[in-house]
Amino acid sequence: MKRDVGIYQELGLEPIVNADSRMTAIGGSLMTAAVMQAMEEASRALVDMFELQQRVGERIAGLTNNVAAYVTAGAAAGVFLSVLGCMAGPDLTSISRMLSGGVQERQVIVHRAQRIPYDPAILLTGAQLVEVGNALQTFPWELEAAICESTVAVFFVAGDHLRRGALPLEKTITIAHSHGIPVIVDAAAQLPPIENLWHFTRNLGADLAVFSGGKDLRGPQASGLIVGRQDLIEAVRAHGSPHQRVGRLAKVGKEEMVGLLKAVELYVVEDQVARSERFERVVATWVLDLSQSAAGVTLSRDFPNEAGQPIPRTRVDLNPAQTGLSADMVQATLWNGKP
Ligand SMILES: *Cc1c(COP(=O)(O)O)cnc(C)c1O
Repeated sequence: MKRDVGIYQELGLEPIVNADSRMTAIGGSLMTAAVMQAMEEASRALVDMFELQQRVGERIAGLTNNVAAYVTAGAAAGVFLSVLGCMAGPDLTSISRMLSGGVQERQVIVHRAQRIPYDPAILLTGAQLVEVGNALQTFPWELEAAICESTVAVFFVAGDHLRRGALPLEKTITIAHSHGIPVIVDAAAQLPPIENLWHFTRNLGADLAVFSGGKDLRGPQASGLIVGRQDLIEAVRAHGSPHQRVGRLAKVGKEEMVGLLKAVELYVVEDQVARSERFERVVATWVLDLSQSAAGVTLSRDFPNEAGQPIPRTRVDLNPAQTGLSADMVQATLWNGKP
C-alpha cells in the first residue's frame, strides 16, 4: 500500500513499519479513511463543544451498551478525569474547594501488583495512592483495611498480565461497593475483544472504565474514552474542557470527538471472525516464509498476546550460536535500518 508520508520525510524522520502491538511511542495505530473523513468534516465548522461532547457521548454509550460515555484526550487523561469526577463530583462548590486547595486528604487505592507507568495521572489530581497487597498476593481484608474516610476510588488495571497478585475485579468491586466506593477500571489496551467495551461496566459492575482511542479502536491517537455510570460521567463533564478547571489540561477537540465516534461505530460492527482469520493468515505466512530464512531461526505462533488478548503473533527465536545474532542485535539493526 502506498502511503503519503511526505511530511515525515520533510521533517527528516523515517516512518516505521510496526509488527508489534499498538504502541503510543511509535504513533499508536493508523486511522481508517472513514475516521479521517469524519475528522475533516468536523474541522470545517464551529460547534458548541458542550453539546458536541454530550451528543457524541450519548451515541458512543448507545453503541457500547453503556449508560453514559465521555471522550477524553487519551486513556491517561481519562484516568485523570475519572479520579477528579470521583473526588469532587459535579458539585461546583466541591470543585471550587478543590481548586482553592481547601480539601482534606484524598486517597485512591491500587493493588501493589498493578502499579503501572500511567498512574501519575492519578497523582496529578492531588490524590494519594494507597497500595494494597504485595507483588505476589492480595487478600480481601487488606483492601477492606485500606478503605477509609479519605478513599475516593479504587483504581483497577485490567489485563491478564496484571491479574496475578491482585484480587479479581469482581471481588474488588464487591468490597469497594460495600463501602460505597467507586471502582475505576483502566482498560486502555484491553480491546479486542469488542465485548470489553461493556464487560467491565455492564457485566461486572465497575463504575467507570477507560479505553485508549488511539490503540485498537484506531481513532485519533490523542483520544480516549470513559464509559460507565451516568452520575460519574456528569461529574467528569463538570471538570473537563471546555470548562476552565483542572480537567482543561486534558482538552479534547471537536475533530477527536467526531473521529472517535466514527472509530467506535466501525469497531463494534467489525467482523471479528474475519479479522481473526486475517491475523492468523499473516502469522501462518510469516511462520512458513521465515522458517526457511536461516538455520538457527525458529518460528512459531504465539497466542494470546503479551496482554492476554485474543491476538496471534509470530514468535521468532534465534539461536545465537547458529545465527551469530542476538535478539538485541536484530532489534538494533531493525531500528537503524529503513523499512
Ligand atoms: C496505553 C495505556 C494507557 C494510556 O493510554 P493513552 O490513550 O495513550 O493515554 C493507560 N493505561 C494502560 C494500561 C495503557 O496500556
